Amino acid sequence: MQGPNEVPFRFGPPVAVTTCSIMFQDITTLLLDPQAFRDTIDLFVERYKGKNISVVAGIEARGFIFGPPIALAIGAKFVPLRKPKKLPGEVISEEYVLEYGRDCLQMHVGAVEPGDRALVVDDLIATGGTLCAAMNLLERVGAQVVECACVIELPDLKGRERLHGKPLYVLVESH
Ligand code: 5GP
Repeated sequence: MQGPNEVPFRFGPPVAVTTCSIMFQDITTLLLDPQAFRDTIDLFVERYKGKNISVVAGIEARGFIFGPPIALAIGAKFVPLRKPKKLPGEVISEEYVLEYGRDCLQMHVGAVEPGDRALVVDDLIATGGTLCAAMNLLERVGAQVVECACVIELPDLKGRERLHGKPLYVLVESH
């Protein structure tokens, strides 16, 4: 599989789950190759350095792998968006609908301030519900979401259409 930027890495095989077969794009194989991991981070850093981004918001759990090195390289703060009951301080919450059921993201109150310019980072966009919830959290506290960034997009699920016109940058499309 090769994306528009020809990132030299491969993803793990599909995982068969009970009665149905689910294609799970496993980014942990990318992390086994330090050069490929570095190239991946560098592509994001090239795109976002000098863009006056003040906060990188990473989505639990795999947004915590890609978000912090990008934040450090562009001089932005890193803010984790976590599943319920993980953050110790006061939080605001955003519920969202998944393919099967509901979920919720939480963010520490005060971590992001009005006027912050935010980049949202996750490993993968499928239906777009998770990124949408993340953007809602950031905008509710007055931040401006500049862009969302993922390593992989599953374009067949049309998640991009749920982002209310916000730009989405991805390195690899997987059909
Ligand atoms: P969405 O909300 O866009 O439907 O799903 C995206 C979220 O689910 C992301 O946080 C992503 O980590 C996770 N996800 C869904 N499918 C996959 C997959 O095939 N591989 C990986 N690595 N994550 C997935």
